[in-house]
Amino acid sequence: MPEPTSPDVPTAEDEVVDICRDLIRIDSSNYGDGSGPGERAAAEHVAGLLSEVGLEPQIFESAERRTSLVVRWAGEDSSRPGLLVHGHLDVVPAEARDWTYDPFAAEVADGCVWGRGAVDMKHMDAMVLAVVRQWRLEGRRPPRDVVLCFLADEEAGGRYGAHWMVDNHPGQFEGVSEAISEVGGFSLSVGDERVYLIETAQKGLRWLRLVAEARAGHGSLIHHDNAVTALSEAVSRIGRYEWPIRMTPTVQRFLEEMADVLGVELDLTDPEAAMAKHDALARSAGATLRNTANPTMLRAGYKHNVIPQTAEAMVDCRFVPGYEDELLATIDELIGPDVRREDVISDIAVETTFDGALVDAMVAALQAEDPGSRTVPYCLSAGTDNKSFSLLGIRGFGFAPLRLPADMDFAAMFHGIDERVPVDSLRFGTRVLDRFLATS
Ligand SMILES: [Zn+2]
Repeated sequence: MPEPTSPDVPTAEDEVVDICRDLIRIDSSNYGDGSGPGERAAAEHVAGLLSEVGLEPQIFESAERRTSLVVRWAGEDSSRPGLLVHGHLDVVPAEARDWTYDPFAAEVADGCVWGRGAVDMKHMDAMVLAVVRQWRLEGRRPPRDVVLCFLADEEAGGRYGAHWMVDNHPGQFEGVSEAISEVGGFSLSVGDERVYLIETAQKGLRWLRLVAEARAGHGSLIHHDNAVTALSEAVSRIGRYEWPIRMTPTVQRFLEEMADVLGVELDLTDPEAAMAKHDALARSAGATLRNTANPTMLRAGYKHNVIPQTAEAMVDCRFVPGYEDELLATIDELIGPDVRREDVISDIAVETTFDGALVDAMVAALQAEDPGSRTVPYCLSAGTDNKSFSLLGIRGFGFAPLRLPADMDFAAMFHGIDERVPVDSLRFGTRVLDRFLATS
């Protein structure tokens, strides 16, 4: 970290914890049905922090109180393609009675900031804000244009946030080639090594409704044309199906690196054998190795002695980049001719390569702050706003750097009870982002 130009200029490391706490205290719960408080208060707070250091963010509202903001920070060389740094302002809801500390009080205890959004993703919003503010106060400029964007509605798919911005205000991202955001850049302790996972790929999703239609009738009679029977057969075939391994370049690289760290032989025809030694790895990697389809809801009937005319099931399907067609063909085979499928919600898969100057900048920044660590790409089984921005041709990475204690179950923090982030990790993250920004 550079020395501040005067003792009055607060450093990012000084500010990051307070900024994170202030953001957590602004309840921006997203219930997915528009009933929440919205992101306006959080967006206005962020706009204030940026205005204070001379940036002029633009506010956008996709609906009442569904607020996002964007500001372009001119770099040394504006002829270079820009870098997008984006974070969402909404959080998933939290039930205070389940928590050790009030989820919106942002208590600091046991070396951590506790609260909803501490890792998803007000921590990254805070780290970015802290670093940008320090640079502005010191009169520094990034090497190329940086577009800072804080978004509504990520937790419900971005229809009022990233998707809306991309559809309605694509000009804000003109000339941007790459992006960084959440769910990557954190450390995982494997054996004696610390491995930083950079997200370079995301599975796609197809939420399907299955419908069986047959003949209604009396529950006392012989009745072979039964919608409930047909639907449940289809659902159980899907639920029991063993999806074949479909390895993308990201997942292969991830497995090779992890096998090396674990000191095990990697058999690419049975990659799970190598991961079996490490629970967290098996859990995180397993779902990225293949398509998945999980039946999640059933709906049929209204009276015990009436055979209903229709039966419905909801299935959550996720596909590996490049395997959407195979997913749907397999589902069609499994459900057979008596059940039809309808689309409810879908989103694309994305994958980029783990190379180039921006990746080098991430790896170097992590190496400088945590010498001897390893940096590895991985595929996320869920999605982030990077999917929306990929529609503008922007190459997205999950890079919200955190060095975490070895015993912390970080994956459980996302949307979990007692979500928290170590204060040391926040400070580490600002140092990494500072270095990254200087070389990006
Ligand atoms: Zn998130």
